[in-house]
Amino acid sequence: MQPTTEPRDAILVEKTPLETYVPPAKPSLIGLSRTELADRLGDIGVAPAQRKMRVQQLWHWLYFRGAQNFDEMTSVSKGIRSELAQHFTVDRPEVVAEQISNDGTRKWLLRLPSGDNVEKAHEVECVYIPETDRGTLCVSSQVGCTLNCSFCHTGTQRLVRNLTAGEIVGQIMVARDRLNDWADREDGTRRVTNIVMMGMGEPLYNFDAVRDALLIVGDNEGIGISRRRITLSTSGVVPNIVRAGEEIGVMLAISLHAVRDELRNELVPLNRKYPIKELLQACRDYPGASNARRITFEYVMLKGVNDSLDDAKLLVKLLKGIHAKINLIPFNPWPGTAYECSDWDQIEKFSEYIFNAGYSSPVRTPRGRDILAACGQLKSETEKLSARERQALRAMAMTD
Ligand code: SAH
Ligand code: SF4
Repeated sequence: MQPTTEPRDAILVEKTPLETYVPPAKPSLIGLSRTELADRLGDIGVAPAQRKMRVQQLWHWLYFRGAQNFDEMTSVSKGIRSELAQHFTVDRPEVVAEQISNDGTRKWLLRLPSGDNVEKAHEVECVYIPETDRGTLCVSSQVGCTLNCSFCHTGTQRLVRNLTAGEIVGQIMVARDRLNDWADREDGTRRVTNIVMMGMGEPLYNFDAVRDALLIVGDNEGIGISRRRITLSTSGVVPNIVRAGEEIGVMLAISLHAVRDELRNELVPLNRKYPIKELLQACRDYPGASNARRITFEYVMLKGVNDSLDDAKLLVKLLKGIHAKINLIPFNPWPGTAYECSDWDQIEKFSEYIFNAGYSSPVRTPRGRDILAACGQLKSETEKLSARERQALRAMAMTD
């Protein structure tokens, strides 16, 4: 892993005001599949016989080299480059703020056009977490989230919209741009080695875009991050869990957080629709799960709420027969929350019990807390909902 050269604990890009936002004038090619790229080439007059080869070239420049404009694509003929530039861009989401934590974690605030009003912008966050043996990028799938888990900051923000496949792939591209992490790195190492779909939003409520984006990210002629290094975290959208295994084939993480329906209904309201038993059955049915490809169960440690040894015992009982590991997440506080993080020795006792029962039970080290970049702290600057609006959204999420 490359050491960071920038000063720690710094703001590298000062947030630009929303009023300066200029929506893109042309569509970006980022996020298109090979078939869609071929269609776009057809639209600008590239002959059918040439399209496959041109798509290969474009794919290489876009996703392997990280080209930031068509001029760089020197193996593509000048005529096609200029046609492409007239109709399209290779723009990623616009970075409007970049913060670096004193532990090296970086958070980018990205600005996106609003779906229905081109004059307005939406914002989303994306976080890079460097460790000694890997660099993990935490990617968002929605602006906000409809699900309102009671301990999650993102859940207090209204859902504005789903991200497109291009905006999801674009987050990885922004990280590679900012970290100087494309194919021409001199020492051949990579900074972004792993992806976790654990940013803002519920990825399985934006299934098609998340699937299309992750298939691009995993393609080994481009960005090339293998499926084994991509983890999708869900709060438990049962019907889409098996689909995710079949159609995307990435590693699965389940935000469990409670072992009794009564408590889980409160912490993760989606549980009222898909209770624990159904959720665990979907995990048992997850294609490709094995001892080498275990399902991660995330469990946020909330003081006096879900952290007793009885909870740990029931957890072990529930997971019997599932290839599982348990990731204990110390609760990350955010302004206005009523929850507290469990005491450290309670987290250790809980972890030890699970470990002795035969499960790996690492405690996730909170990263980037000083810049509100840790799990569940992400929230872009969309106004908070009134209680009534929140209730209406919750009802919507329960009935769709
Ligand atoms: N919506 C998806 C993915 C995003 S959240 C999901 O819920 O799985 C990523 C993880 O952070 C989830 O396990 C989530 O429950 C957890 N999380 C949310 N708020 C948190 C907080 N304040 N402290 C610690 N973890 C939190
Ligand atoms: Fe949404 Fe996940 Fe937060 Fe729940 S924990 S509100 S599903 S982002």
